[in-house]
Amino acid sequence: MRPSEKERIGEEAFLLEAAMRHVDEAVLITTTELDHPGPEIVYVNEGFCRMTGYTPDEVIGRTPRLLQGPKTDRAPLDRLRRLLSRGEPFDGRNVINYRKDGSEYVLEWYIEAIRDSDGKITHWISSQRDVTELKAMEERLRHQALHDPLTGLPNRTLFAQRLELALSRARMQEEPGALLFLDLDGFKDVNDSLGHEAGDKLLVEAAERLMALLTPGATVARFGGDEFAVLLEHPSDEAEAMRVAERIVGTLGEPFVLAEREASISASIGIVALSASSGGSEELLRDADVAMYRAKEEGKGRYRVFEEAMRVRILQRLRLEDELRRAIQQEEFALHYQPKVKLPTGKIVGFEALVRWRHPERGMLPPSAFVPLAEETGLIVPIGLRVLGEACRRAKEWQERFPGVPPLVMCVNLSARQLRDPELVSDVARVLEETGLDPASLDLEITESVLVRDTEASVVVLDRLRGLGLNLIVDDFGTEYSSLSYLKRLPVNFLKIDRSFVAGIDKDAKDEAIVSSVVGLASSLGMAAIAEGVESAGQAARLHELGCGLAQGFYFGKPRPAEEVLQWLADGRATTKRSSDD
Ligand code: C2E
Ligand code: MG
Ligand code: MG
Repeated sequence: MRPSEKERIGEEAFLLEAAMRHVDEAVLITTTELDHPGPEIVYVNEGFCRMTGYTPDEVIGRTPRLLQGPKTDRAPLDRLRRLLSRGEPFDGRNVINYRKDGSEYVLEWYIEAIRDSDGKITHWISSQRDVTELKAMEERLRHQALHDPLTGLPNRTLFAQRLELALSRARMQEEPGALLFLDLDGFKDVNDSLGHEAGDKLLVEAAERLMALLTPGATVARFGGDEFAVLLEHPSDEAEAMRVAERIVGTLGEPFVLAEREASISASIGIVALSASSGGSEELLRDADVAMYRAKEEGKGRYRVFEEAMRVRILQRLRLEDELRRAIQQEEFALHYQPKVKLPTGKIVGFEALVRWRHPERGMLPPSAFVPLAEETGLIVPIGLRVLGEACRRAKEWQERFPGVPPLVMCVNLSARQLRDPELVSDVARVLEETGLDPASLDLEITESVLVRDTEASVVVLDRLRGLGLNLIVDDFGTEYSSLSYLKRLPVNFLKIDRSFVAGIDKDAKDEAIVSSVVGLASSLGMAAIAEGVESAGQAARLHELGCGLAQGFYFGKPRPAEEVLQWLADGRATTKRSSDD
């Protein structure tokens, strides 16, 4: 009978064999020659065969160098030789080896000496773990953490890292560079009208256009939303950045075909040059953002190079915004009232409330100094609500003290931002209710440009406001070049002829023609015309001749605080300049 395997090699060796088969790692035992031709493989386990595709016969007697190839890094191998020659263990990571079929795998690798009972080194034993999958997964995670999933471009984090590197190069005066920060103009409209899928498609295509336009050394990143950044290096100066910006504006200005429709956007770009004196990456990005913002302000679809003065402006704006918030809390707003009179008598029929800011340091500020920013920041909503409340309260008070037929009317200006406020109609209704003012005594003024631009959205809100029983005035009428078709759709009662036409009425035949036709237009649409900015008796007389029945202007009275209004009301008229009776 043939001896069993177990009897042949002995119990212990048999169990060891079984254990070796069991482990997943590749185990390899070699002789100890470190010099050419290197150690000789004397044993490999099954794990090794699985990992490399070799059979034991194919490797035993050969050197482990047969596993190396072109991408195998020599550095750890040198370290390995050094450590092993001193009898110390070696721990290797990320070593690339090659399987029998030529494919690569990544290893984690541990080698140590086998010593006999005298402590003499007889062999090296090496265990190897295939970490190819793990590495690939790590790589994928790393990529995800540093890239935008939609466009595949680097994200803000990776961009900031590259910017830091570029900055340290710039500081060493080796290579200047430039940073471009861009924001798409009109992207939100595309997203809202064609849907998010189309919006995503546009962003992907915008990213492709940017990549196609830039040299391989440049970094393009998406910061999220419709914001992108470009880093130009090797080396690049402001002039080069401006050329690139111009080409970006050009390429992104070409129409995009999305969901079988064409969409057009543009790009606004801010540029900052990197130099030896540049601050940190955060600061540079902020400066580029400031310059981009400026490009938007100047009409979009253009670029601007950052200047220190821009930052000062932004800081001033931020301060003003803070002050405005505080002013709301501290109730620093005051109303002045300008009389609205009947022509030709000058009899007061009502007032326009005009807001002022009693600034603690700068004194009384006109609306032009703060209303635009209040609109942009939305602060006009709380401010406007206070104005409305105060004006209605005053109107009610004056009506009670000076009853007349018809009762005094109060005009309050509304901004575009207020019209978009979903609470507007209920706020107005509440103020009327709280102050007890008859809605018929309240006129709301909206400037013409808002109505022309947002006719569609305005129709609904204006209908609801009219539904409360108040009247609507188109302010600054005649300043828009566009068609008058919006007038047909909007439920307005008065057209307030812009001051610029009234100014020339007694000298310029064209202004006179315009005023006369607005008066005619108003009457044929069932509305009435009001002239604003009347400054002289001559203008007032001419307006009356042209059929305009209502007027406002310095000639009849400048906007005044409430106390002075009481005097006018007691006198029954706003000015003492004229002598004619009502
Ligand atoms: P607006 O509604 O067209 O108001 C008329 C502006 O012309 C007022 O300027 C008034 O003082 C001025 N004005 C009146 N008569 C004459 C005149 O004979 N000659 C000249 N040269 N000017 C005259 P103000 O008070 O500086 O207001 C400017 C603008 O600010 C207003 O234009 C209005 O659009 C806005 N505004 C004023 N108060 C408010 C408010 O409470 N809310 C909102 N949203 N806007 C307001
Ligand atoms: Mg007005
Ligand atoms: Mg006006």
